[in-house]
Amino acid sequence: MLSIQKFVLGPVATNTYLIADTDTGEADARDAVVIDPGGEGHLIVKAAEKRGWKIRQIWLTHSHFDHIGGVAEIVSDSGGVVVGLHPDDLPLWKHKGGASFFGMDVDPGPKPTLKFQHGQSLSVGSYKFEVRHAPGHTPGHVIFYCQAAGTLFSGDVILQGSIGRTDLPGGDYATLMKSINEQVLSLPDDVRILPGHMGETTVGAERRGNVFLG
Ligand SMILES: [Zn+2]
Ligand SMILES: [Zn+2]
Repeated sequence: MLSIQKFVLGPVATNTYLIADTDTGEADARDAVVIDPGGEGHLIVKAAEKRGWKIRQIWLTHSHFDHIGGVAEIVSDSGGVVVGLHPDDLPLWKHKGGASFFGMDVDPGPKPTLKFQHGQSLSVGSYKFEVRHAPGHTPGHVIFYCQAAGTLFSGDVILQGSIGRTDLPGGDYATLMKSINEQVLSLPDDVRILPGHMGETTVGAERRGNVFLG
C-alpha cells in the first residue's frame, strides 16, 4: 500500500509528506519520496530511517520558501537524493522562494535537476503519479495525482475550504481558477486531497462546499 506520513513543519506550518510503497522493495531499504519538506530535514530523514525507508527523491509542488526549507538537510543526510521542480518556478527558487519578502532566510539546497512537466509520470515503488501543471499560485506549480491510491497532493493550489493566495509575485487569480477547474475538479469526487497547509479534504467536498469556487 501507499504509506503516507504527514509532518507539519517550518515557519508557516507547511504539510510535508513522506511516502513509500510498503509492498515493493526490500523491507530495510524501501524507496521513499518527500513532498514539500517545509523544514527540519534531519527529522524527516530520521523518520524515514526508522521505517527502513531510503529517501530517493524530493518532489516540490512549487518553490515558495515554506515548501523547500528542509531540502538542504535531507540532501546532506542522505546521498544521491534528486530534487524535482517545474522550470517555471526556478526564478522563484533562485530568490530563495521569496523568503526575504517575509523577512526570512532559507537554504534552498542544491538546484533541482529533475524538471517536471505536465503529464510526466513519476513513481514510488509500484505507484505511478501524474504531474499536473497547475499555475496561478506560482507560475510553475505542479500537483501530483496517484490514481491507484485515489490521492492528490495539491500543494497551495487548493486547500480545505480555500484556495491558494494569488497576491504574491508570479500569482494570478484567473490562472489559478483555470488550474483548479481543469486539473483538480476534473478528478472524481472521492479523490483524497492532501494540501500544502491545514487539513485534508476530497475533490467532492471542495466541489460542493468551497465558497471560493463559485
Ligand atoms: Zn506557496
Ligand atoms: Zn505554502
